[in-house]
Formats: sequence, structure tokens, C-alpha cells
Amino acid sequence: MNLPVDFITRTKSLLGDDWVAFVEALNSESPTSIRINNHKAEKLFLDKVLWTESGYYLPQRPSFTFDPLFHAGCYYVQEASSMFIEQAFRQYVVGGNVRILDLCAAPGGKSTLIADVMGESSLLVSNEVIRTRANILAENITKWGNPNTVVTNNDPQQIGKLQGFFDFILVDAPCSGEGMFRKDEGATSEWSIDNVKLCKERQQRILADIWSALKTEGLLLYSTCTYNVDENEENVQWICEELGAEVLPIDVKEGWGVSPSLRDSFPAYRFFPHKTKGEGFFCALLRKTSDEGSLKRRKDKEKTSKSIIPFDCKDYVKDNESFIFYSQKDRWFAFPSLLYNDLTLIKSHLNVISEGICLGEVKGKDFIPDQSLALSTYINAENFTTYDVDWKAAIAYLRKETLLLQDQPKGYILITYRNKPLGFVKNIGNRANNLYPQEWRIRSANIPETEVNII
Ligand code: SAM
Repeated sequence: MNLPVDFITRTKSLLGDDWVAFVEALNSESPTSIRINNHKAEKLFLDKVLWTESGYYLPQRPSFTFDPLFHAGCYYVQEASSMFIEQAFRQYVVGGNVRILDLCAAPGGKSTLIADVMGESSLLVSNEVIRTRANILAENITKWGNPNTVVTNNDPQQIGKLQGFFDFILVDAPCSGEGMFRKDEGATSEWSIDNVKLCKERQQRILADIWSALKTEGLLLYSTCTYNVDENEENVQWICEELGAEVLPIDVKEGWGVSPSLRDSFPAYRFFPHKTKGEGFFCALLRKTSDEGSLKRRKDKEKTSKSIIPFDCKDYVKDNESFIFYSQKDRWFAFPSLLYNDLTLIKSHLNVISEGICLGEVKGKDFIPDQSLALSTYINAENFTTYDVDWKAAIAYLRKETLLLQDQPKGYILITYRNKPLGFVKNIGNRANNLYPQEWRIRSANIPETEVNII
């Protein structure tokens, strides 16, 4: 690997005697890992990622695109080290009604993890500032299927106006990416000392902008995928001194290979590829000590319509008495009742691009069920005609091809693969119109000859 000279000088002095082992690890193959969706998949009998309950290593990197269960949201392909954030949630966020913000969330690896470990009465706001990336985030959150999530597309400064609103904020900051050199060799060409400095300054701006949205005593998990101290320990120190916080310890087990902070004065957690099976990663957990007022609630205008819910819509959702049902224009949604006030407040301040479960759209006398309902962990599949397809038909469906269904009634049919919902079709007799979202479809035509089933 062609490492920049300045990177070598700086990282050698950081690692000392470990430098040779580190370079050797960078020249070895990067491990492939996945995290299963506990609401959709069973535990696997594979090598476990030690610091999470649902992460596994795969023996090689398969073609995920051609595994239908990947599209069904049964698992997420995620770099192993970053799954460590689960420990901060398990050790400090225990149930209850917790408002969580994942500020820099696209494509959604950490958000899907948080959605799994947070309690059912907690709210997750996943935000991404870049619009195109926010759409990918919304797609991944929809596939994961958790109803108590909202996806927003805002600048940190705008979210900062939600004064004292959040109990927990994850800032997985854009960084110089040194920890990804092995996975993405292109990242080495973008690296420079000047860029490290720019990243550090941008991280501080992001942190300062979002700080007011965290309540006093609230927790902030700061993480990067880079090794240098500038963007890591120095920024943690900066948060403590400039914004007002204390650093909290996270318990780690001896055998995990996690390295400590490079500052004696506070704990932090570092992952190096020669010590742990994963890429480079850094994180530290902070508790806000500075005072924060709380947002004055405006009288929110009721934007949802009072129109009558399409008659069987409620029956599409399991446990429907714990949801509120509402429409926006012709689209119907279900959102956990307990969190609905929070949603209203968020909508009055932020640009929400996806929320809860979108059930479907009324068109004339027809109600067209939505992809978000198909992939929701709360879909009441018993109330739909379902049709389980084989691998070849599943790939055709995900490529948005027209399906021919044998002996099926006319109307909306939920297509499943190995009994996991993939999406809807509208059967019109001689053929079934494919309702899979156009922008999600598999574009590659290089369909493998043999089935791909990863879990
Ligand atoms: N947390 C994500 C995950 O686990 O999948 C990865 C996040 S990535 C390290 C950092 C994200 O920050 C990127 O999606 C990037 O678009 C976003 N970003 C870039 N500049 C930003 C800014 N000024 N404020 C907030 N987010 C920014």
C-alpha cells in the first residue's frame, strides 16, 4: 500500500514498536462483517464480532446485491470495529423514553444498530446533511423496518435550535479516514496534514453547532475512523474545555483487543487492524455538564388531515392500538403514539424525509400499499395475500421486472422470499405490476448462475 510520507512519520511516532505489525495488517485483506436485524433474522453460527450481540464475520466477501434477504433488511453489511458503539448504549442507555440523534448518519450503519438496541419507547432521529446521501439513509432505515425512527436532512446548526431536546447524540464525524486506507486505497491520495487540520476544524464546528440540542447531563458519543490525535483525543479535550463535558468510561473485555486513549487524563477507545479484527476506529463518550435551557414549545399547527382512515389500513399493522394513524396529502402513516408529540415538534423545525411507517397512498378508490409497510417489523402480513418466490423470481422482482403469478387473486400481493417480505405487486390477472421502488432496484445485469444466500 502506498502510504503518504507524512502519514508514515506521524503514525510511526504514534504507534512506536507496533508500526511494523500495523503496516503488515494494512497489507492483509480487510475482514467482511455483517450485523443481523434481530427483528427479522435468527442468530447465525459464524465467527462472532466480540463487542456486539448481532455481528458476525463472513469467511469471504460475497455479492450482497444478489442476496434477496439483504434487500429485505435482514442484515446490514457493517465494518466490525464501528459496532463497538453498541457498548455505550448497552452500558448507559437502559430502556425508557430516550430521544436519540444520529447526526452524521448516512448510509446508516450506526443508526440501524441504535434502532436495534434502543428500547421500544425511544425515538431515533437519523440525520444526514447531504441530500443524496440522506435518500440512501432513508432507504436503509426503511429496510431495517423500525417504526420509531425519523430521517431528517438538515445542517447541524438547524438541529441545534432544538434546545436541550436530545438525551443522546452520536456524532460519527466526517474525518480524514486513515482507518479506511485498507478498505479504500483511494483514501490515501486525499490524505494530507492540511486535510487533517481542516477535518479537525470542521468537527469542532459540527460539535459546537449541535451542542445546544443536547440536554444537560445528556450523553454525546464522538467517533471517527481515523488514527491521528488531532481529530480524536484533542477534539475530546476541546469538547470538555470549550463546551463543558466530562468523559465517561466504557467497560471493555480483555480479549477484545481494544486500545486505550492516547491521553492519560480521560478514557477513549481505539481500534487498530493489527490488534482487532476490523478497521481503524476511535470513540469517546461524554456527559454534558454545561447548562442548557430547554426549548420553548410553540403551539404546533396540526398539519395532519382529519380525513377518515381507509377502512382496513389499521389492520395492516400489528399492535395497532399503540400507533397513531394520520395522513399527509394522500399518504397514510402510522407512528408510535407515545412519540407523536416529539415527531410534531421535529417536523416544525426540521426537514423530515421519512417517518415511522408509511402505509400507502389513496388513489381514487384504491389504496396502494407502500414499500415502508412491506418492510416494517410491524406489518401484519396475515392480512395480505402473500406469495413466496424462489431466488430467481426474487431477483427478477428486485430488478423491478414484471412477475407472472400462478393462481393468485387480483389485487395487492405481498411478495416474500424465504417468508421475508420484499415488497408488493398488483396482480391484474395476466400479469402482476411490480411496485418495488424504482430507485432501489438492482441495476446490475450480471446475475450469478448460482443462488446467493448469505444468512
Ligand atoms: N454514521 C455513518 C454510518 O455508520 O453509516 C457514517 C457517517 S460518515 C463517517 C460521516 C457523514 O457526515 C457523511 O455521511 C457525510 O456526508 C456527513 N457530513 C459531511 N459534512 C458534514 C457536516 N458539515 N455536518 C454534518 N455532517 C456532515
